[in-house]
Amino acid sequence: MKSLRSIIEEGKIEILLKEFDKKIVERGKKYFEKNSVLDKYILSDNYVHGVIKGTSIYYTDVYLYKGKLYVRCTCPYEGKCKHAVALLFSLSFKGKKNEDSLTLENFKRKIERSLYDYGILEFDSYEWEELIRKYDKDEILNFLISLTIYIVENFIYSEEYFDNEIFVDELLEIFLDYLPEGEKGKYLYEYLASLGEDYELIIGSPGSLFKLLESRDIAILRKLIEENPLIACATEVCAFVNVR
Ligand SMILES: [Zn+2]
Repeated sequence: MKSLRSIIEEGKIEILLKEFDKKIVERGKKYFEKNSVLDKYILSDNYVHGVIKGTSIYYTDVYLYKGKLYVRCTCPYEGKCKHAVALLFSLSFKGKKNEDSLTLENFKRKIERSLYDYGILEFDSYEWEELIRKYDKDEILNFLISLTIYIVENFIYSEEYFDNEIFVDELLEIFLDYLPEGEKGKYLYEYLASLGEDYELIIGSPGSLFKLLESRDIAILRKLIEENPLIACATEVCAFVNVR
């Protein structure tokens, strides 16, 4: 018997779905199509885990043990449930996912839902990496800017804000990491330059972003700041690139 990971990566999940009730497979597939799978992980060759949104949030494990398929889920259903099906679909489509469903627009919707439901910024880093590869760099930058503005306008003055972590620096970090040397400085500058002082709070810790910059990026950032000073995170960035 092949490993769960290879079955998923080869897109042959029908083998696994045979173990489920047919109606459950249909329902699970709908869940997947509605973007209900909030997070998913291949934890080892034979063990996967996911967070699925249904009437509530469910945590689902699917694993192979001695060639047999097992499901463990926090939902009340007894047996192999639709959440496990949604997870399997989601994992098997992650690479060559419905090209149509993996869009910045859909990603934004999922993020908005996570913000309203739990007050925290939850995202699937695999999907975000896919989007970064798929879209033009400027489109990604504009997306990050508009998301930051959206979060500040809707959440920063909410009471829960300080209890929760609604930082966008993690998304920004993955994006910067993807960019070639030289462009990291330019894009970080453009991102910060588009934001005012209200936005400092939303950028968790610029320090972790600085670690990604190469010396050429730092030089570019310094030059850009000298020409046009920043407002958001100005003190920290200026100290970092050594500009007064
Ligand atoms: Zn379930």
